[in-house]
Amino acid sequence: MSVLQIRYLGDPVLKKKAQPVPEVDEEIRQLARDMIETMYFNKGAGLAAPQVGVSKKVIVYDLEESGSGTEPQVLINPAIVASEGTVRDEEACLSVPELKDMVERKAKITVTGLDLEGREVRIEADGLHSRVLQHEIDHLEGILFVDRVGPLKKKLLLSKWKKIRKKLEPERIV
Ligand code: ZN
Repeated sequence: MSVLQIRYLGDPVLKKKAQPVPEVDEEIRQLARDMIETMYFNKGAGLAAPQVGVSKKVIVYDLEESGSGTEPQVLINPAIVASEGTVRDEEACLSVPELKDMVERKAKITVTGLDLEGREVRIEADGLHSRVLQHEIDHLEGILFVDRVGPLKKKLLLSKWKKIRKKLEPERIV
């Protein structure tokens, strides 16, 4: 397994729609393993493939702290097929480190997708589970949480982000 480099806001891959995975093969399983390691290394609750530069519909998440003994979850080609209610809570993102804001999400969702064996799964989620799934599925559509806070808040977050990104990675600024 290896820790992959996280792509930051401003990287075009984060704005692209990810491609569905036609077949869950060893390459996809390896990608999922590397994404899980990358998520734990960065202490994130979830990670989507575009965040490591791979424009494919793969997400991983773990609602517990790394090392707490819970199983990391992998979902391939996830789709929200039903939703109910709305709820606001704070969100952050490994692709926009150091920033967080309130984001409105669906309260309860039903998600379908494939597991690592290529079997169809159906997940009913609420609370943090629902929020993490919606955040990661958004990444597959090229949407970041800063796109969901309203235009004024977004402007403010983006101006803060400019400074943070310079500080984090001066060599990656174009
Ligand atoms: Zn994110």
